[in-house]
Amino acid sequence: MSNNLIVVNKITKVYDEDIFFRRGTNYHVLNKIDFLLQKGDFVSIMGPSGSGKSTFLNCISGLDRPTTGKVLLFGKNLTEINDEEIAYLRSHEIGFVFQNHNLIENLTIYDNIATPLILNEENNDLINQRVHEYSKKLGIEHLLGKKPLECSGGERQRAAIARAIVSQPQVLICDEPTGNLDSKNSHEVLKIFKELNNEGTSIVLVTHDSAIASYANKFLYLRDGQMQTQLIKNKTDQKSFYEEINRITEKDILFSMFSNIEGKSNIEDDIKRDDSQISNESIDNDVEVINVDNSKNKTRENVYVVFKDKKLTLEQRKCRLLNFEDKYLEYESVTHHNVRIYYKDIKNIKLFLSATYRQLGFFSEYMYYVNIDIILENDQYELRLENIDDVSPLFDMFIKENINIDDPADIIGIYANHKVDLDRHRYIQRNYKKFCKMYGFK
Ligand code: ADP
Ligand code: MG
Repeated sequence: MSNNLIVVNKITKVYDEDIFFRRGTNYHVLNKIDFLLQKGDFVSIMGPSGSGKSTFLNCISGLDRPTTGKVLLFGKNLTEINDEEIAYLRSHEIGFVFQNHNLIENLTIYDNIATPLILNEENNDLINQRVHEYSKKLGIEHLLGKKPLECSGGERQRAAIARAIVSQPQVLICDEPTGNLDSKNSHEVLKIFKELNNEGTSIVLVTHDSAIASYANKFLYLRDGQMQTQLIKNKTDQKSFYEEINRITEKDILFSMFSNIEGKSNIEDDIKRDDSQISNESIDNDVEVINVDNSKNKTRENVYVVFKDKKLTLEQRKCRLLNFEDKYLEYESVTHHNVRIYYKDIKNIKLFLSATYRQLGFFSEYMYYVNIDIILENDQYELRLENIDDVSPLFDMFIKENINIDDPADIIGIYANHKVDLDRHRYIQRNYKKFCKMYGFK
């Protein structure tokens, strides 16, 4: 077998495609990406949140199909083989570790680890031998009889790793596997990955932590749909590699203090100056910076509002969901912890519109979003609603809870008066310049 385990050729992923009369947003997440994973590689990938890291992992591992381009998985073309064959490759040749360990709560750690082998119809002796071998390797042999909830976060993640490698896959795909762990446990987990890699398992790891990324031998930086930078460790020591990685990511951390969408503001020049102190590279001109008057250095998070009695499509389920409960609203943040906001703590809500410019083949247009700032006594959450077509119940909710809403452009009124999405879109389009002026955007 060739040394090339995963060969990716110019893959593109477009969400919400604009097909015929469906007014999709054509959201280009990946743009003609090439990638190669060879036997023995340990590749780490970083990128701003929402840059498509998870999408990329899903596409190269057969969990999702790219819109265009080619993926060869162990020599097999993903577009040519059927779902059954893909499922076989996934269960025998690839192990997955996610940030939420995804262990089954009513099963013991033993049964959780054994699950892939049971599904692969291995015999009991082999199952028993492997479960013990790998739980020992991960230092959790004493936990085999426990249920996940009786274990600590670090222990659960070890169990998830044991489950991922128990079928001895050639490739391990890890999507922010340390997202829920403290720094000590994170590094313990990475030492295990390093060891597995030394023993021959090839690894692709997505993380938002440069220190974690520095365990790899190769580093890729995903931004604007493309792999912008590649570093190869060669004989560099880990610390220098870490510093190299930091040099690349720091630039974006600066930008992530602001939203990378919406209108420019007059602080842009300052930011450019700041950035030039970090790196000599010129800044991409396409980075736009939001007016930061009231932003508390947090990234605006894209959320999809969920209403209790509404059925979600599979696609919607994959979005970051904002759930409404009786006393609070809750969502999983980009850093993968649950944010819970009690209505009683909300001091004020600010609504405003923003837009991004989308190229749709020959056509182009502005897509509009409703942004919502939830202001508490000592905190502020900045959300961008993805399903603006039907957010009226959200506004009703705030009104019902007697929350003070700051809505200078009368977004609530627009939604009440223009019930059809297209009408509303046209109305906003006609008045967008006015709104920008109102918010102080240029
Ligand atoms: P990352 O893992 O880098 O944070 P993702 O790959 O999860 O990014 O998402 C990239 C972008 O694609 C995000 O803006 C996200 O909202 C969007 N996205 C992800 N999944 C879907 C989907 N199923 N439908 C529409 N948009 C999606
Ligand atoms: Mg992700």
